[in-house]
Amino acid sequence: MSENSSIYLDYNATTPCDPRVVAAMAPYFEEIYGNPSNGLHLQGRLAARAIERARAQVAASIGAQPDEIVFTGGATESNNLAILGLARLVSTRFPRRNRIITSAVEHKSVLLPCRKLAERGCEVIVLPVDRYGQVSLDALRPVLDERVFLVSVQAANNEVGTLQPTVEIGMLAHAAGAFFHCDAAQGVGKIPVDVLKWKVDLLSLSAHKLYGPKGIGALYVRGGPSAIPLEPLVLGGGQESGMRSGTSNVPAIVGFGEACGICQEVLKSEPLALQDLRDCLEHGLVSALGAGVNGHPLRRLPNTTSLTFPGMEVDALLLSMPEVMMSTGSACNTGALEPSHVLQAIGLSRDLAESTVRASLGRFTTENQIELAIQKTVDAYSRLTKVLS
Ligand code: PMP
Repeated sequence: MSENSSIYLDYNATTPCDPRVVAAMAPYFEEIYGNPSNGLHLQGRLAARAIERARAQVAASIGAQPDEIVFTGGATESNNLAILGLARLVSTRFPRRNRIITSAVEHKSVLLPCRKLAERGCEVIVLPVDRYGQVSLDALRPVLDERVFLVSVQAANNEVGTLQPTVEIGMLAHAAGAFFHCDAAQGVGKIPVDVLKWKVDLLSLSAHKLYGPKGIGALYVRGGPSAIPLEPLVLGGGQESGMRSGTSNVPAIVGFGEACGICQEVLKSEPLALQDLRDCLEHGLVSALGAGVNGHPLRRLPNTTSLTFPGMEVDALLLSMPEVMMSTGSACNTGALEPSHVLQAIGLSRDLAESTVRASLGRFTTENQIELAIQKTVDAYSRLTKVLS
């Protein structure tokens, strides 16, 4: 597809693989295909070495040590492992700690494990957010005491892009003796992530949000699995220090490592350039169509804009300009009849939530594409309003 016949603005749903990532993965399909658990022959040893190199690259991108990284099948699995695995550990070691605190704008892969724990008798507190999507520390403080075992709050929201006050949340959680888990699937590669500064105990990452392959992710575990021996969700051969059994997906892990390495290299320049393009798109659509901007005006992912067009049926808008690929709500919820829980949590009515579009830019977005996206959106909007009036 040529640059302008298709304008992909859905990078928060998933990114294309960076060609350098594909190149790094290529040898691990046909040349180095050994099972890394078998150190007796060269094939196995080469595969194991590649995994350890990737583990170091992933760790470096978040300021962690390699032995603190557990590879998983993606951020969904990492979130499940963090929450369910910790709950099982805590229920035997600290039975008086029975409360978990999370936020209303978390991904479903955080909210649903929490709901599962509520069914098993845990007390789950879901913190509300303000109209920008930020958790209030004043709401957190009074519910954070010696009954809490886990605070799970994301780094950045996939729909509106709002960043959470992770440093402060980490400090408060630790002061209460609770663990802090952060779903950083949308943060890594877009904003600086530092597990030490954030005082995070568990942090979820996903490769396909940062130009790596799909189906691979990681959970950072402070001090490694021996320090926080989460109960695994998957039992078997004991790979990943027993935290995640199953033969390692070597090519995907190699690609994930390469993707993290590239993100670290470009972290000082790429987000700034994307922010300029994002602002250009945002200003263009706000000034031409009077769209309302959701999310925090300043503390927001540099690549993300969530725009509400009151009265516009945005499904029809997007369908009428198929070459501009944006999303409504969250792609993970596509098919769901309910409007986005995130947009509802920031106070949008059902109607306004259903009139909201998310554009998320990325490494391969160009200025030309942004100009065209504005023009095509304005044209489609005018066509539809004429039909409807
Ligand atoms: N958390 C957040 C904030 C996300 O945006 C996503 C992906 N939409 C996930 C978790 C799930 O990630 P994965 O696709 O790697 O399971």
